[in-house]
Amino acid sequence: MDLYGPVKVGGDILAFCGKCKRDLAHVIVAILAGKPVKVICKTCKSEHKYRLSGDSQPKSASSGGGKRERAPRTFVKNSEYWEQKIAAKKQTPLKTYRTQELFQLGDVISHSKFGVGIVEEVKNNGKILVLFRDEERILIHGLTAPSQL
Ligand SMILES: [Zn+2]
Repeated sequence: MDLYGPVKVGGDILAFCGKCKRDLAHVIVAILAGKPVKVICKTCKSEHKYRLSGDSQPKSASSGGGKRERAPRTFVKNSEYWEQKIAAKKQTPLKTYRTQELFQLGDVISHSKFGVGIVEEVKNNGKILVLFRDEERILIHGLTAPSQL
C-alpha cells in the first residue's frame, strides 16, 4: 500500500476491476474505517466496490471442483501485449485513422470504431496490420480516391 501513499479519498489505489478483469489503478471515492470501500477504475471509469487485488476468484462455490471457467487466454494475452506496446508509445502522437492517410510501422492510430491501435506491419498491397486491444485487424490505408465509407 505504501507504493500508492496513504489511503485517502481522491487517492490512487491498486484494486481489482471486475469489468476489466484485472488489477488496475483506481481512484478512491469512499473510505470507511480507514479502508477504501468505493473506487473508480481509471481504465474503464466504472465505479464499484473496492476489491483487493488478487481477490477475484471465488473460493469453493457450489460446483464440486471439476469445472473451472477460464478467461479466454488469447484475449488476455493480446490486451496485455497491447498495453505494453501502448505504454512504450507514450511519446508517440496519436494519428486519426483515415483510409486516405498513409501509415508507417509503429504508428499509433486512433480508430473511430476499434479504438487505439499500433501499426504492426505494413503490407505492400495498401494494407496495414494493426494491433488493437481486443485483436489484430487488417486495415486499408493510403487510398488516393476517397472511399465511400
Ligand atoms: Zn475497469
